[in-house]
Amino acid sequence: MIIISHPSCLEHLSPEGHPECPERIEAIRNQLIASGLEFVISERDAQPATDAQLHAVHDKEYLTSLEGMPPSRGVRTFADDIWMSPHTLTAARHAAGAGPQAVDLVLQGTTKAVFCNVRPPGHHAERARAMGFCFYNNIAIAARYALDQAGINRVAILDFDVHHGNGTQDIFLDEPRVLFCSTFQHPFYPHTDTQPDRPYIVNAPLAATAKGTEFRRAVEQAWLPALENFAPQILFISAGFDAHLLDDMSSVSLVEQDYQWVSATLRDYVDTHPDCKGIVSMLEGGYDLPALGRSVVAHIKGLAKL
Ligand SMILES: [Zn+2]
Repeated sequence: MIIISHPSCLEHLSPEGHPECPERIEAIRNQLIASGLEFVISERDAQPATDAQLHAVHDKEYLTSLEGMPPSRGVRTFADDIWMSPHTLTAARHAAGAGPQAVDLVLQGTTKAVFCNVRPPGHHAERARAMGFCFYNNIAIAARYALDQAGINRVAILDFDVHHGNGTQDIFLDEPRVLFCSTFQHPFYPHTDTQPDRPYIVNAPLAATAKGTEFRRAVEQAWLPALENFAPQILFISAGFDAHLLDDMSSVSLVEQDYQWVSATLRDYVDTHPDCKGIVSMLEGGYDLPALGRSVVAHIKGLAKL
């Protein structure tokens, strides 16, 4: 088990009190230390994404529009609830570069699972639009790298953030080599289309009242049959923890055991399917800091079978 992070991920700033804050990264690290996991996992610094990796997923004009926008000091708004500070794009570059680096570690056989403790998050970022705290779609950049640069033919992206991963769906809408499975509160932000007519997009909406039972049922009845059928060679996880009971961002009520269960279930898939090389997991949402830290510990215990 390897964790990839980078000090620059603490330097993307939002206004005081904003939920998508640098303390999220520290809360995760603190809980990893408190749990003792710190001593059984190795850590790597994220490499910055290359221009080619960003362009493989995002529209050229959109990428150009981001350059030159960060302020020289303080924070400024770029779009609706999208904030930039002087080092935002440095942080975003490292968050986006962690994924391809993780793909290489898995495909080289160095590890079966990598968790990228990075921000800003990515799954709301569309091909040509920043959205929902996201600039570059980190998980899409990793999946695209696996397909185009690492000799992989089929990948699956599993997204359990409480918000639908509209950006990931937008980017891979016409890419049948990507199976996109998600659970999310519905109806809810981002209020985009969750019923595209594509066999490789498996959206499993959850009612606002949903708890672990409903979540696990969706994974067992929608995700797992789709995985069996699709036979991905690598699994990507958009790991958002904002469906937690204590997270004010949503009404869905998952707990640490649910995150450990889904993570162990996906690791079981890898262990029983020799063609599937491993798991690359990327932090998305999760805004109650203590619950976020504990949930990531549960996620890593599940991924690493600890
Ligand atoms: Zn979210």
